[in-house]
Amino acid sequence: KELSDDLSSFFDSGIYRLPGRGIVFVDPVRLLNASYSHHRISASGYYSRTFNSLERRKDLEASDSSSSKKRKLKKRNTLELNKQEIVSEKRHQEARPVLLKAHEALLGTVELINFLPNLVKDEFSFNEVKGQNFVALGSLWQAPLYEISLCLDGSAILGEGLRHESIGKKIVPLFNNVICNNTSDDMDAEFLNCRYVLPRKSSFCMSDLREIHDLIPGCSDQGFNLIVIDPPWENGSAYQKAMYPTLPNRYFLYLPIKQLAHTNGALVVLWMTNRGKLRAFVDEELFPAWGVRDVRTSYWLKVKPDGSLLGDLDLFHHRPYEYLLLGYVNKKKAEPLLDDQVFISIPGAFSRKPPLGKLLADYVPGTKPWSCLELFARDLVDGWTAWGNEPLRFQDSSYFVKR
Ligand code: SAM
Repeated sequence: KELSDDLSSFFDSGIYRLPGRGIVFVDPVRLLNASYSHHRISASGYYSRTFNSLERRKDLEASDSSSSKKRKLKKRNTLELNKQEIVSEKRHQEARPVLLKAHEALLGTVELINFLPNLVKDEFSFNEVKGQNFVALGSLWQAPLYEISLCLDGSAILGEGLRHESIGKKIVPLFNNVICNNTSDDMDAEFLNCRYVLPRKSSFCMSDLREIHDLIPGCSDQGFNLIVIDPPWENGSAYQKAMYPTLPNRYFLYLPIKQLAHTNGALVVLWMTNRGKLRAFVDEELFPAWGVRDVRTSYWLKVKPDGSLLGDLDLFHHRPYEYLLLGYVNKKKAEPLLDDQVFISIPGAFSRKPPLGKLLADYVPGTKPWSCLELFARDLVDGWTAWGNEPLRFQDSSYFVKR
């Protein structure tokens, strides 16, 4: 059957604009694949949690005596809420119609809904990646001694069809060091017997928050035009604790956002959870400290491969959406920012967030090519600098297949 233009352009770009203002369905795997020439991200690896959780849910349902389930699903009565919870409930009530409309737009797009179950699979059987624990290694006294070897062979294309065979390896310190793949091709890197894939024109710096000042550009006109921040917020969930270390909110006041931002302005995007207390901290302390202004809200709505919401929209502690706050730093003239955008996707394993660069292109100040920065990153993207204590985490070659 013939594909519609929308669907065939979605296959290439990973972006499907749904009817309605600012409503977009995205496939992070397709978006990320645009960064690679000779590799593809394995969809079954990226979406592995989708299968596991579906399996787990089936098991639960099978063994459920229904009482615990009912307790879990019970909606909180507004009378039981504390002051901050009331504020976040109010915010939820504002978000609700926007999210429902976006979800309706998705459900109404039959060709996309029919395709969704195929999105999360591919022909490769994906095995759990053991991978390096960079967070642990980086905190050892030996950390400054660890080295990564960058393979400058074969794949570095040096102009029209000309290829250099094994130019050799470059060995550099792994931690507290800005490492770049300036070539226009994928680059392999090796560290402790594991292989990593570095996309073209990407940089990363693996360090602790204490060392983040190393990222501040030397020249005032070399700052970043787009800064995406997904902080390790504390939220007390045991699941999150097992996945990565968190930091007290006050630590984020010291992120040097103003110095990292381009002097002619930068778009700053902050990933948020739903807690009312956190939002008050961001509005009253964090954004003023960073100099972020003209703040707008967008949403990330999470759906299952069958198109249904990841959870009950009104379930108090497990909303199927997250907030994105967007604002400007160092910007003299405020550019209009679109409010209430909804980015819909099937969430990947390990709570990976969808890559935002292409979705926000219309709002980034300055001239192309922009210089983009992701703080607390766990993967790399073409044209971006990734910083955090494990930016190579999802670059492990086991997440990729060769094309
Ligand atoms: N946006 C990422 C993604 O989609 O994969 C997830 C980021 S996760 C919320 C926060 C990250 O911050 C984790 O990788 C965590 O290890 C890292 N982190 C925690 N404490 C840190 C510290 N002191 N310095 C640098 N990074 C830290």
